[in-house]
Amino acid sequence: MASKLEAGKTREALGRFTRRQLLELDTCAHCALCTEKCPAYAESKVPNYAPGVRSSKTARLVNKQFGLWARLLGPRPVTAEEVSDLAESAFNCTLCGRCMETCPFGLQTHELWTRVRELVYALGGTLPNVRMLDEMLEENQNPYGLDADMRLDWADYTDLEEVPEKDRAEVAYFVGCTTAFKGANHEVAYSIASILNQLGEDWTLLGEDEWCCGSPLLLAGNEEGAREFAEHNVEALEARGVKTVITGCAGCFRVFKWEYPKLLGRSPRFRIIHAVEYLRDKLASGELKPEPFRGKVAYHDPCELSRLGGVIDAPREVLKYLVGDYIELPEHGMDVRCCGGGGLLQAANNDLRLAIVKRRLGQAAALGAEVLTSACPACKLAFVDGVRASESDIEVLDIMELAARQLGLL
Ligand code: SF4
Ligand code: SF4
Repeated sequence: MASKLEAGKTREALGRFTRRQLLELDTCAHCALCTEKCPAYAESKVPNYAPGVRSSKTARLVNKQFGLWARLLGPRPVTAEEVSDLAESAFNCTLCGRCMETCPFGLQTHELWTRVRELVYALGGTLPNVRMLDEMLEENQNPYGLDADMRLDWADYTDLEEVPEKDRAEVAYFVGCTTAFKGANHEVAYSIASILNQLGEDWTLLGEDEWCCGSPLLLAGNEEGAREFAEHNVEALEARGVKTVITGCAGCFRVFKWEYPKLLGRSPRFRIIHAVEYLRDKLASGELKPEPFRGKVAYHDPCELSRLGGVIDAPREVLKYLVGDYIELPEHGMDVRCCGGGGLLQAANNDLRLAIVKRRLGQAAALGAEVLTSACPACKLAFVDGVRASESDIEVLDIMELAARQLGLL
């Protein structure tokens, strides 16, 4: 027998959809134009993962409480099974936003799917691995459940001599958890730090005072948790008087730039830039003069930096200085095909993540790329796992690593 959820809690959770989102749920014509563009559906062919199916299932739950029949005859209960089915759909999604780019009706699906995750979270339907990740974040302020003092391990492993942790500085380098705690990304942090040192910047790290940016909390559906993390990070950065925050992580960048003002109800008193934007300016001004790499290099746009973050040209401008033989991948820029590394898909369904990343790697291999670059530690991890799983010989490098290498710093 289906288990009905408590009425008040259900009503409150379903009532959190904004007017615009309610209209969007009503507007979705289930035309399926987004379906084939969706990487999760394209690789799985599971109907429940298709964006139009998700919108229709969400609308059905909303209508049970607030639709016309609910108003005439009274609200109908939502069951745990319905929430679990919706959770299966909501988390088998990389939150890449490609459906949003495709939708002829202009549905803001990235926000809509995030709200669906919040609904699932509020009704206790979050997938077990995602719930575990959420708990580790609340306990350790990072999604890997590691101690805060390990945030600087990358500096030890890479023998970086100067690791500034100052009370005041012009610039802060916000490393981000997936760079700080994942060995495959330690050289990304080293590269950015070395470039800042090379240029003699007055810069600092937050060290143990850096908390996760809150992105995985938002992706898990825990908006309150994300707000707490945003408040902490902004306070720590403003206390140091920094004017510019640089991050090499596309997820941290998007959340700082586009979500923090919404979460905090104000803009932070510093600007946030991605490391590629910083690098582009330093290359253009002639302050850095790299030796161009001679092999074939392709660039994959991280969804959170390009489609969702608004930074598409800067990495390509950087690559003009770094690379002699640049290959533009198909499905790039605003239309980028996701690498599978986003949306907590690794926690929800790692096989699907690997299928998605193999597809993207295959596109790079078909064009003869020797090096595949990106500008996000989650993309790098996905590609590294994909290379291992498919026994590809493409070298995966973050664009900042390639820069450091061509500048003789790595
Ligand atoms: S956000 Fe990306 S993965 Fe999720 S439904 Fe849309 S296209 Fe598919
Ligand atoms: S393209 Fe837009 S209207 Fe069509 S199914 Fe997808 S979300 Fe709905």
